[in-house]
Amino acid sequence: MSAVTEETYDVLVVGAGTAGIPTALHAARAGARVLLVEKDARIGGTLHVTGGHIAAAGTRRQAERGITDTVADHLADIRRISRGTARDDLVSIVAENAADTVEWLADRGFAFAPETPRIIYGHEPYETARTYYGKDEGLSILAVLSEELDKTTASYDLTLWLSATVTELLTDEAGAVTGAVVHRRGKDVTVTAPAVVLATGGYGADPELFEELEGAPLVSAAARTSTGDGIHLAMAIGAGLQGEGTYLPTFGGLPDPRTPGRANWSDRQRLTSERAPYEIYVDRDGLRWVAEDEESIDEKERALAQIPDQTFWTVFDDAALERARGGVEQMVVGKEPDEVRAMMGQRPGLHAADSIEELAALAGIDPKGLVETVARYNAAVEAGHDEEHGRTFLPAPIATAPFYAVRNHAITLVTFQGVDIDASFAVRDESGTPVPGLYAVGEVIGAGATCGNSFCSGMLVTPALTFGRLLGERLGEAATDPDRN
Ligand SMILES: Cc1cc2nc3c(=O)[nH]c(=O)nc-3n(C[C@H](O)[C@H](O)[C@H](O)COP(=O)(O)OP(=O)(O)OC[C@H]3O[C@@H](n4cnc5c(N)ncnc54)[C@H](O)[C@@H]3O)c2cc1C
Repeated sequence: MSAVTEETYDVLVVGAGTAGIPTALHAARAGARVLLVEKDARIGGTLHVTGGHIAAAGTRRQAERGITDTVADHLADIRRISRGTARDDLVSIVAENAADTVEWLADRGFAFAPETPRIIYGHEPYETARTYYGKDEGLSILAVLSEELDKTTASYDLTLWLSATVTELLTDEAGAVTGAVVHRRGKDVTVTAPAVVLATGGYGADPELFEELEGAPLVSAAARTSTGDGIHLAMAIGAGLQGEGTYLPTFGGLPDPRTPGRANWSDRQRLTSERAPYEIYVDRDGLRWVAEDEESIDEKERALAQIPDQTFWTVFDDAALERARGGVEQMVVGKEPDEVRAMMGQRPGLHAADSIEELAALAGIDPKGLVETVARYNAAVEAGHDEEHGRTFLPAPIATAPFYAVRNHAITLVTFQGVDIDASFAVRDESGTPVPGLYAVGEVIGAGATCGNSFCSGMLVTPALTFGRLLGERLGEAATDPDRN
């Protein structure tokens, strides 16, 4: 049976993930009474699945490796990659403070992957080696945050509620946010707090909101907790959104064997400029739609957004698969040729056949279209010239059976629209006026804010950690300010 109880804190942080944990622990260390509410049974949110790439210029680690880099260069790279479509005010805060975020992690034993910082080619690359990640990807970040959270709950006024969901924001007559309703242990608890921080993540696991905001097919590899709650909560009290029109899908993983509509990011084909492609990409009609050796991953992602159902197949022969061994040459990340062969016919979307026609029929591609496309491609290889798409890497015909087709969807790892904030992380209403008492950090503000209409290496995890730290420190200081009302 539901009953209402009441609790009071200085700061209520909604969501114990990438952005919420740093917000809460820095606010508490600066002296605030903090409640951190997490709907899942464990902390971490997207940190359980993310690559956890962080981007920062001017770090000790770069200096130790003789890498010269500046905040200005980082900003210039972001502006180039995003074509100036990201929020310059927010991106500047990230670039200026990202090195401190990396040092904060480093000083707490962050397990850097030894090869980092490096240039990452999965997205449009930076010009300088400034992307860092942990040996265990996002889990390496979570290891540090989790230990720091434990220490903070032990020594400061920080309370963590797990399996507790914020269901409603509370406002006063003037429209200021005064707290929230938290559903916990079968009861609704009214939590009063002068500062409420939404750190609830994106909406990649909320098909309805995704359809409403993007109107594009959703194949998700987002965390299952990314259900858009912060956006629903903020919209219900009149918050504005930002990032409209910045949506961009990315090359995906193999279809999830169990859940239709999801993709496995851990089993993904290498479709970036890291390796030269021996395969062709075809759509449902069997037609090629891009030069497979296009160096710009960004150009390829934009072309992908335009094809029917954002679905395509890589088609290759056994000779191409046989040579795709070792590191970046592999067709599927981490899989040697025999492991890829073993998946054919066993996993959804992966097919092998002795003829192109049979392959097309198995895969659901138009057989006539595919047969003609492969013939045209083989003729282009023979002529050394691809008239259709201008591909220049034409190493070998698709001619050695068995032939393979692997289905690929554009996938959504992150979502681009979100709650509009100002440069102090205060949520703004539809007229652009800050809503007193309400803040937002992390993917709830939308990837468009810090990546614009692009994927910029590290430009979600870095803002989440950095904005969380900066906002937490500020809210903590405000809570201890004797002049506070
Ligand atoms: C596979 C994958 C790879 C990625 N790789 C990178 C990368 O390498 N670099 C990069 O910069 N970005 C990457 N991203 C994106 C990045 O990881 C995320 O944008 C970021 O981690 C999100 O942080 P967050 O704090 O906003 O959300 P989360 O870390 O997801 O935390 C949100 C938390 O809020 C909780 N919550 C939600 N609603 C409520 C509610 N109503 N009440 C209470 N709690 C609630 C959730 O359960 C969750 O724990 C990747 C994403 C994916 C999916």
